[in-house]
Amino acid sequence: MIKFLDLQAVNMQYQAEIEDSLLRVFRSGWYLLGNEVKTFEKNLSSYIGTPNAIGVANGLDALRLIFRAYIELGVMSEGDEVIVPANTYIASILAISDNGLVPVLCEPDLETYNIDINNIESLITSKTKAILIVHLYGRAVFSEKLVQLAKKYELKIVEDNAQAIGAEWNGIKTGKLGDAAGFSFYPGKNLGALGDGGAVTCNDVELASTIRALANYGSNQKYVNTYQGLNSRLDEIQAAVLDVKIKYLDDENNVRRKIAERYNKEIRNSKIILPAAPQDGGEHVWHVYVIRCQERDLLQQFLMEHGIQSLIHYPIPPHKQKAYASLNNLIFPISEKIHGEVLSLPLSPVVTEAEVSYVIEILNKF
Ligand SMILES: *Cc1c(COP(=O)(O)O)cnc(C)c1O
Repeated sequence: MIKFLDLQAVNMQYQAEIEDSLLRVFRSGWYLLGNEVKTFEKNLSSYIGTPNAIGVANGLDALRLIFRAYIELGVMSEGDEVIVPANTYIASILAISDNGLVPVLCEPDLETYNIDINNIESLITSKTKAILIVHLYGRAVFSEKLVQLAKKYELKIVEDNAQAIGAEWNGIKTGKLGDAAGFSFYPGKNLGALGDGGAVTCNDVELASTIRALANYGSNQKYVNTYQGLNSRLDEIQAAVLDVKIKYLDDENNVRRKIAERYNKEIRNSKIILPAAPQDGGEHVWHVYVIRCQERDLLQQFLMEHGIQSLIHYPIPPHKQKAYASLNNLIFPISEKIHGEVLSLPLSPVVTEAEVSYVIEILNKF
């Protein structure tokens, strides 16, 4: 059986180093807001190139806290609108609506699966305050046009960088492109912890200190509460593990690229649409390798019969979810097409050449 993602094998690559870190934290007697988190934040901020990085409990919180901070700072207020791609993972949308902001869904581009920047301007109203771009599947999305739009209408650009850590656009890392970015260290992400974890990066110092306070009960000074905050902390154990793994992130992303390159070159089947090559200065770190097929469910079954696990990212678009009943009547033909046809193939730093060859052979037989 070829697993979609063998997390145990991914982490066992660094067994000795990770076990040392776990033991170090255990024996230190210090488990929250200590040196491990400080060190990881420093290494993350120098990796991304932003002056600020704040460890938080998970990726959803990272995004929620960014919008919450903008509200506390008076940049946004309840009822304001945030433009977001219609085909993103639900967490992007939750981060908006959880703050009393209104998600305004934007159709993606059928080639890149990322937000179609040409569709944004027509969605901007007097209430629009931000564009939440999502580097979906690991593919960076950005452009001069987006920057111009944000300038013209005074909008914040927030990045959902949960899937694209390590990717660059014209030499700038995702996470540094916009005004603030949310990261997820969910175990299956390109930089995965041994549990939940997340971070925010940003250039603005005031925004960073507001987020840091909000994540710690609304307090920057013990027992002095400036905001009605929450408890959203990256713990020392996760930070120590992430600090081991971040050193290998570029190497792992390169392995992902090599596998994607083979899939791109060697899958030859007229029923299967391969992902478009990166373009316009944007890189891909292949968080997932997503193909499209009109007979997607049959193809998934065929792969399973041949011992190959695949996943669907994602089966139901956010506007068709019961949780967003008020959006259920909206129609987004491109998103709906994507959700109906996408399938993600096994791709990770530990998938072998032989496994890749076998997946290709089976796909070409479908
Ligand atoms: C994983 C993910 C999140 C949420 O991250 P968690 O750490 O699971 O909360 C947000 N957005 C996208 C696009 C994701 O893939």
